[in-house]
Amino acid sequence: MDNLPTLSQTVRLYGLGANKKLGQHFLLDMNVTDMIARLALPLEGVHVAEIGPGPGGLTRSLLKAGAEAVTVIEMDEQFLPALKAIADVSDNRLSIIKGDALSVDIATELGPGKPIKIAANLPYNVGTKMLINWLTADPLFWDQAVLMFQKEVAQRIVAAPGESAYSRLAILAQSVCTCRMAFDVPAKSFSPPPKVDSAVVVLEPLPEAERFSNLKLLGELTRAAFGQRRKMLRKSLKPFAKKYGLDLETWLAAKAVNPTDRPETLPISAFQELAKSVSLSK
Ligand code: SAM
Repeated sequence: MDNLPTLSQTVRLYGLGANKKLGQHFLLDMNVTDMIARLALPLEGVHVAEIGPGPGGLTRSLLKAGAEAVTVIEMDEQFLPALKAIADVSDNRLSIIKGDALSVDIATELGPGKPIKIAANLPYNVGTKMLINWLTADPLFWDQAVLMFQKEVAQRIVAAPGESAYSRLAILAQSVCTCRMAFDVPAKSFSPPPKVDSAVVVLEPLPEAERFSNLKLLGELTRAAFGQRRKMLRKSLKPFAKKYGLDLETWLAAKAVNPTDRPETLPISAFQELAKSVSLSK
């Protein structure tokens, strides 16, 4: 791996350009990619799925940090020769899938046997969608995810009730995982620099018995509540209650939820209780 060209040389060597539509902003500083890979330690015996490797900075760091196997999923074929050059010096530890990560069945591609960790500097435009797919995967096939997002999205994942970033995403993610903010990565660390800063979040699935199982319904409930986050719950949840044949005030009262509350003050457990009582009434 030490004999590979540097990432900047790689970009020049293969004439790699940044396609805005695919959310391409590259990390060419291996100090930063090493820091991200270290969050996934220990990596011995682990199979890492890396989404959107681009020129392969994080890929190199994951291999260097001792991952037993790394499978990268990249949509843009311009990166394949640079990734192949890494695979050639990886002792068969690197596999490359060319495709859209949104439609690749990661669990099947990586196969059984080894714990799976997901690592990615995600394209901004599809990052949230990918996260929701992984949170709702049944069975939950991964043991840890180390993910870079636009900072504002990262804040929405880890936020607690009462914070301005508290959102539907926080409730869904924290109903399945522990979520923590690791560190910020300023826009200037990327080439080309995006308009906003980024941050890395670490997600670890809760023990199975503590995970909230009906994420689809919780997603629908929180979409209704946060779709109108300035409105009181008795207003924003009216269509949801009607759809499920619930008397809104009775339903909220049974779970000790004040109808004049706004969604940003309601704890995650209260949203879960409300969703659970709908599941039970069906
Ligand atoms: N990981 C590289 C780095 O840190 O330098 C590149 C990060 S760049 C923000 C996002 C990468 O995801 C690009 O390489 C882009 O081509 C790729 N990508 C975008 N959408 C994708 C998708 N749906 N499936 C797989 N890769 C995708």
